[in-house]
Amino acid sequence: MNISIPGGGLKTLGRVRLTMEADLPFDEVPIDTPCPQCQGPLRMITARLDLPVFGDALQTTIHCTDCAFRHADVLLTREGRPMRDSLHVTDEERRRARVVRSQSGTVRIPELGAAMEPGPAADAFITNAEGVLWRFRDVAAGAVATGTEERPNAAQEVVDRMDAMIEGKEPFTVIIEDPSGNSAILHGATERVPLTPDEAASLKHGAFTFEVDGGTT
Ligand SMILES: [Zn+2]
Repeated sequence: MNISIPGGGLKTLGRVRLTMEADLPFDEVPIDTPCPQCQGPLRMITARLDLPVFGDALQTTIHCTDCAFRHADVLLTREGRPMRDSLHVTDEERRRARVVRSQSGTVRIPELGAAMEPGPAADAFITNAEGVLWRFRDVAAGAVATGTEERPNAAQEVVDRMDAMIEGKEPFTVIIEDPSGNSAILHGATERVPLTPDEAASLKHGAFTFEVDGGTT
């Protein structure tokens, strides 16, 4: 589905989970594109947000006046430098470090050889270091459950190691690389370095990948 909306240079954050203020000021305008479901008239509601990490942003909701179609986005108005954040998570306090991943961020757990890359289904999210593990665990557990993995035991081993990390029995590292600079790990011990143009250009656009042989222990 392609819908063109005003403000084309803005960066989409996708389905970021936000708590909206009930009385936020907003604008509502008709837009030229017909509804992708029923060809009916679409309207767009925009509200300006000041997000704690992303800065200025626009929350947009496109809705059809004739059917139930709705599509919500958060558009960032800021473009930062390509950055890599990494945090070695060794204790409970660091497991709670806030992690912000924009739609263009690649998240890695090097100890597991696991990567979450930008792609059509990529979600922007705000979570903590432990929450990142849970997101990877959901995908790895799916590989075990569906039995599509050539070596189901290997996928189970990854899940078991993730459980040990979630329970604090094994340290792990969270790395986020983002060419837009809009991802971050918010902790005093985070190592934050700019990406070189080559590094930023070499970031892949795929989905979830796991090296089930155990990664770079
Ligand atoms: Zn419609």
